[in-house]
Amino acid sequence: CGIVGYYTFNVRRDLKYVLDCLFNGLKRLEYRGYDSAGVCFDVVDPYPLSQHRAEGGQEVIAEENGVHDSAVPLIVKEVGKVEALERMAYETVERDQLDLKREYRSQVGIAHTRWATHGPPSAVNSHPIASDAEAQFVVVHNGIITNYNLIKDFLIKHGETFVTETDTEVIPKLCKFVYDRLSEKVPFPKLVMEVLKKLEGAYAVLVKSTHYPGELVACKRGSPMILGIREAPGTRRTSFNRLHDAADTKWRHESIECFIASDASAVIEHTKKVIVLEDNDVLHLCGGGYGIYNTEGHNVEEAVPRVLLTL
Ligand code: GLU
Repeated sequence: CGIVGYYTFNVRRDLKYVLDCLFNGLKRLEYRGYDSAGVCFDVVDPYPLSQHRAEGGQEVIAEENGVHDSAVPLIVKEVGKVEALERMAYETVERDQLDLKREYRSQVGIAHTRWATHGPPSAVNSHPIASDAEAQFVVVHNGIITNYNLIKDFLIKHGETFVTETDTEVIPKLCKFVYDRLSEKVPFPKLVMEVLKKLEGAYAVLVKSTHYPGELVACKRGSPMILGIREAPGTRRTSFNRLHDAADTKWRHESIECFIASDASAVIEHTKKVIVLEDNDVLHLCGGGYGIYNTEGHNVEEAVPRVLLTL
């Protein structure tokens, strides 16, 4: 029902800040109605500050104070109110002795309020939904995948076990299925495009992956999705960049802070600069830039740049 995503690169934010962004976003979407909610966030910095220094980066204001080395992203989800979920998330943070004030150079978080269509409201059916126990691919989804039964049968035949009763679970599972069968690694949005080719129905989806740490892919068909971009205070940002190639590292020294949501009300408190995604857009956040592709992999902005609306 409601989607919120948060992404930064070269903007040092602490975990508390990220959680606040996700939960404030979810609270803004509460008016739409929901039965359960969930968040997924990382506690590993894929681009640690020491690497930033080695690359000649300046303005390092935080020393690394012990990396919380958990290979698996944290997922907290439950039936009921966002406020209760927020308390659960902070309990998890406390239990795992995570430092809320530790600054990260790069952060990715996704969050969801669910209005169940397939599978009753329950903690396990809530989003984010992972491909497997290692959470290799994690998805939040608005809408309905109408052909999920076909895909589910196919994946079960190939040995997959489903843990939820949702239509959504086919998305992360199909991501993993495609990934496991690649002869060579492809950019994250390309992988998602392969999955999208198999999906029927309406969706707005955010995908994150341990195979693409610090990256985020968003896509939509028939359900709204908005990207908000903020020039973060105190960072040396030169311009809003287009990311033409996922493997391109030349934006590594750029900074970007992005807010994604299914509804503008969760974005406009952070920034007035937004891009409204169109059907079949695949948005890739990676390094210090963003790229918007069509499902064939062409950068849609090469022909006509997407208008950065200033609200
Ligand atoms: N069809 C999905 C489910 O039931 C998503 C529902 C929604 O849009 O919240 O889990």
